[in-house]
Amino acid sequence: MTGPSSPFETPQGRRVTVTVDVASVGRRSGLHLLECVETHGRYYFEGDIVVAPMRIADAAIKHRSVVFGNRIRSRSSLWRGGVVPYASHVTLTDLVAEATAQWEQSTPVRFKRYDAEKAYVLFMPGPMNTSEVGCTGRAQTVTLREDATVETVMHEIGHALGLWHEHGRSDRDKHVQIHRQNILGGQGFQFDQVIKDGQDFGAYDVESIMHYDSLAFSVNSQHTITMKNGDPIPRNGQLSSGDIATVTAMYS
Ligand SMILES: [Zn+2]
Repeated sequence: MTGPSSPFETPQGRRVTVTVDVASVGRRSGLHLLECVETHGRYYFEGDIVVAPMRIADAAIKHRSVVFGNRIRSRSSLWRGGVVPYASHVTLTDLVAEATAQWEQSTPVRFKRYDAEKAYVLFMPGPMNTSEVGCTGRAQTVTLREDATVETVMHEIGHALGLWHEHGRSDRDKHVQIHRQNILGGQGFQFDQVIKDGQDFGAYDVESIMHYDSLAFSVNSQHTITMKNGDPIPRNGQLSSGDIATVTAMYS
């Protein structure tokens, strides 16, 4: 079982390597192979990121040059004018209001109630916390578990704004340690450090809302990712200064 305090878990499903169109992941050019879990016809990357694959490669293919960054670099995948239209399931109204207010308080991003826009975010209850990355140009769903916290919603909104996971950065191993013996069987790839040509923005930021917590994908409630000295990844439920600087730079 995943540690009780971690919003990160992995869907049960087939592990596949998928080819993802750059437009769907906000990259400027080229196609990228991502190792994903497929279930019910949807493809999940690193637990909670939903991607739209172009074609599915042979699952046996071992491809190491997966590419992503900690922010998208394609303007077309940003929300126009920094305005995100959204609608939410009635049970999520308060949670979503609190999370969007946090982003608005510290960044130029603004959220407005859905009014027939083509591109918008729909917050819905679901079995997992998930989001697509960046503005897809159409309706896109953020799903939230029953136990989702404001912090979880802020994290999933971070994906929708165009942020990837912080711990996928090329300089990760200088800052944190992965404890593979505690990772859920077969899920070690969720922690594979895969950026080789990503352009990271700012300094590595363990306090980022986009960083895995210490119990992500834990099989035994022991830490799967910690600071170099063994301390847990700090969580304070706030946007970090790095989150604020990154999103401000993206939407200014
Ligand atoms: Zn995530």
